[in-house]
Amino acid sequence: MAKVEAPVTKNEYYDVTFEDLTHDGAGVAKIDGFPIFVANGLPGEKAKIKVIKIKKGYGYGRLIELYERSPDRVDAPCPIYKQCGGCQLQHLSYEGQLKAKHKHVKEVLARIGKIENVIVHPVLGMSNPWRYRNKAQVPVGEREGGLVAGFYQQRSHQIINMDACLIQQTMNDVVVQTVKNICEKYGIQAYNEETHKGVLRHIMARYGLVTNEVMVVLITRTDDLPYKKKIISEIIENVPNVKSIIQNINPQRTNVIMGDETKVLWGAEYIHDYIGDIQFAISARSFYQVNPEQTKVLYEKALEYAELTGEETVIDAYCGIGTISLFLAKKAKKVYGVEIVPEAIEDAKRNAKLNGIDNAEFAVGEAEVVIPNWYKQGIQADCIVVDPPRKGCDEALLQTIIAMKPKRVVYVSCNPATLARDLRILEDGGYQTLEVQPVDMFPHTNHVECVAQIVLKKEAGKN
Ligand code: SAH
Repeated sequence: MAKVEAPVTKNEYYDVTFEDLTHDGAGVAKIDGFPIFVANGLPGEKAKIKVIKIKKGYGYGRLIELYERSPDRVDAPCPIYKQCGGCQLQHLSYEGQLKAKHKHVKEVLARIGKIENVIVHPVLGMSNPWRYRNKAQVPVGEREGGLVAGFYQQRSHQIINMDACLIQQTMNDVVVQTVKNICEKYGIQAYNEETHKGVLRHIMARYGLVTNEVMVVLITRTDDLPYKKKIISEIIENVPNVKSIIQNINPQRTNVIMGDETKVLWGAEYIHDYIGDIQFAISARSFYQVNPEQTKVLYEKALEYAELTGEETVIDAYCGIGTISLFLAKKAKKVYGVEIVPEAIEDAKRNAKLNGIDNAEFAVGEAEVVIPNWYKQGIQADCIVVDPPRKGCDEALLQTIIAMKPKRVVYVSCNPATLARDLRILEDGGYQTLEVQPVDMFPHTNHVECVAQIVLKKEAGKN
C-alpha cells in the first residue's frame, strides 16, 4: 500500500526546501526522496508544510509558513489570485515565469520526445504582461437574489463575483459588469448547474484591440430570453463601441460553454481586428488567439520558419479563421487551409476577401481526413503548418505528412507535451527539429506556446 511505503504521514508538518516547480506552478519538495507538490512554493524557498494527501509515489502539501523567500517571489497584484485559480504564477516575477517556462519546454521535449539536439530559444515575453486577453467567458450565478459573474471557486462549483480580472483587456471587465447589471435589472435568472434550471449561463465579451470593436455574447440555456428587446437596447446604450450582440443557446447539461445554435440579436455577426496589416473578421464561435500582441510575434516566427520565397504551396492545418494562412499567403504561391468548425471557415473565406488575398483556399473538415484526401488527389505541399488544439495532431495527419514529404513543417503548439510526442513521430519518419521558439501568450498562467521548425533530414545539413 502506498500509505505504508510513503516516508510521510498525512496531516503531519514538515520543514522542506523546494527544489523545483511543476508546469502548473506548484513547488516540489522531496522528503526522503518522496516528492510533495505544494501550491505557492518556489524553488530555493524553505518552508513549513502540512502533508494533505498521499498518492502512490507522490503527495500534496499545503504551505504553512515560509522561512526563506525566493528572490523571484513577488506579491501577486490580483486580490482574488488565490481563490480564482485562473492564474497560477502571479507570485513569481515575470522574469522568473519566463525562465520556468523555458526550462519546462526543454525538459518536456527531452523527456517525452527524446528531442535533445535542438535549440530552444529563451521565451519571448511581453513588455507589459497585464491586461492582454481579448476574450472573456464568465460564468453567471445567483447570490441573495442578485447576479454574480466571476469564476468558479477552486475545486467547487460556487461562482465568486469578480469586478476586475488583471489579465483581461479593461474593456472586457466593463462589458461583463454592464451586461450583468442589465440582466439583473430585468430579473434574468442565472443558470443553475445542479437543477439545470435558469437562463443565463455565461457572459462572453470579445474585443478587437486595434479596432476597438466589441462583441457581446449571452449564452443561455433557453431559446427564450425574457425582456430581450430591452436588454439589447440597454447594451447598445451602455457598452461603448458594441458592434455585435449575439445569443448562443446551450440547452445541454455540460461544462462546454457554447451550444450549437447562435443568433444575431443586433448588429453584425462578427467584429474585426488586425494582426499586423491583415484584417480579420471574428465571429462568436470561431477560435481567435486571445493575446493579439503576442500573436503577431508568434505568427512572424512561424512565417520566418516557413522560409517562403513565393513559389511554395503551403498547407495550414487547424487554420481557424485563416489567421496563419493569410499571414503566409502573401509570401507563398498557394495556401490551403483546413479547419473543423464551419463558421471559422466562413470567417476565413471572408477574411481572404477582406484583404484581397486570392491565393488561399479553405476547406471544412478534420485535418486528418481532408489532408490525406488532398494528398490522394495529387496536392503536394512544400511546407505544412500545423496549429492543433492541446491534444496535438492526429497520428493519421502526421503519417500523411511523412508520406507527402514537405521540405518543412512548422509546428505551432499550445502544449509542449503533445508537441514533444508529435516531434518524435516526425523525427522517426525522417524529419529533424531544428529550433523551438517558445512565446509567452498567457503571462501569469502555466501555459506556454511554442513554434518549432522541422525539416526533412536531407535538408537539415543545408540550414
Ligand atoms: N491557426 C489558428 C487556429 C488554431 S486553434 C489560429 O492561430 O488562430 C486550433 C484550431 O483547430 C481550432 O480552430 C479548432 O476548431 C481546430 N480543430 C480542432 N480539431 C481539428 C481537427 N481534427 N481538424 C481540423 N481542425 C481542428
